[in-house]
Amino acid sequence: MSILELMEKTDCEEILLCHDSISGLKAVIVIHDTTLGPAMGGLRIDQYPSDTEAVSDALRLSQTMTLKASAAGLNLGGGSAIILCDPKREKSEAVLRAFGRHVQSLCGRIIIGEDAGTTVEDMDIIAQETRYVVGLNKRKGGSGDPAIKGAFGVFRGIQACMEAVHGTCFLRNRTVAIQGVGSVGLELARLLSRDGARLIVSDIDESRIQRAQKALTVEVVEPEKIFGVDCDVFSPCARSGILTEKTLASLKAGIVAGSANNQLESDRVGEMMHAKGIVYAPDLVINAGGMINAAEELHGYDETTANLKVSKLFSSIQTILRISREKNIPTSMAAKQWANERLRLIRDVRRNFLPGKQ
Ligand code: NAD
Repeated sequence: MSILELMEKTDCEEILLCHDSISGLKAVIVIHDTTLGPAMGGLRIDQYPSDTEAVSDALRLSQTMTLKASAAGLNLGGGSAIILCDPKREKSEAVLRAFGRHVQSLCGRIIIGEDAGTTVEDMDIIAQETRYVVGLNKRKGGSGDPAIKGAFGVFRGIQACMEAVHGTCFLRNRTVAIQGVGSVGLELARLLSRDGARLIVSDIDESRIQRAQKALTVEVVEPEKIFGVDCDVFSPCARSGILTEKTLASLKAGIVAGSANNQLESDRVGEMMHAKGIVYAPDLVINAGGMINAAEELHGYDETTANLKVSKLFSSIQTILRISREKNIPTSMAAKQWANERLRLIRDVRRNFLPGKQ
């Protein structure tokens, strides 16, 4: 499919391909939908087999961001950006600043934040060339590492699921299995442990396991065993597409709630979880903590306000569970419907001409 056909299929507003011969920058910036406000999108730095694959990946990520921002009640649209290079060898100040200048050229139609392969320090460098970047260092008035608030949002989502299933949100003596103890997973483990939960963890990176063992009391299992462990909550905090028909067959948890993006391999898996009575907190809603936190930077970052807003993910998950119950549909579908409904309403409400306002 050509790029323009892809844009038509996904109803995407704008794609900017960027090149800078001095720094060697090659990047793609996608503005998927600005119905609710300027697009917000994470910047990934990675290598791709082809330009088209990078564009389709950025497009897919930006579509999710449109729905995520809408579901989080933010006045932001969906976007994403990718710098095509090896983050370990080719990421440089020049590449990041050249990228920042392209972002600035879009005059605020997109605001860039962190994603895989980028750090708070990278955002600080990009900020030298554009004011349309968030996730800056706390010392510079920024919101800092999004993973910490991301984990807090997941924790609040787990509490909402616990209340729906067990009538109480307390986690004391409950068992939570966490797949992936990276930035979000470890932070989540700390919060759960503070609340008295028992933890079972897995990671493919031995150094991450050692870090978790040093910080907390955790039981460790081999990566492929994590799906089948006896637990109340299974929390995927590693990678996309891990909820499949096969992994679902071994799952013992009554609740699935974690930070990973696009956890369901297909819509069918969401339907199967619904049919089995597993309470699933859709990633679209539960992992918005980092985005909500970063968005606070746009009007002067205040940590207490950010915490309060992220904390409200508890009631967002309650709403999704209620819609799913009332309509007898999977929670993943309820989340998409909820997000799309807000987009539709705001698009409609803004149809009349107001002098002096866009
Ligand atoms: P991270 O890279 O710091 O951590 C991911 C961890 O998962 C790593 O330790 C990795 O070794 C491990 N892992 C990978 N494959 C695994 C497997 N098969 N089994 C067990 N462990 C495995 O990433 P992160 O920032 O903690 O993000 C985790 C997930 O949450 C990602 O899917 C990310 O897209 C999503 N997410 C993150 C944020 C954020 O603010 N960081 C926000 C929204 C969503």
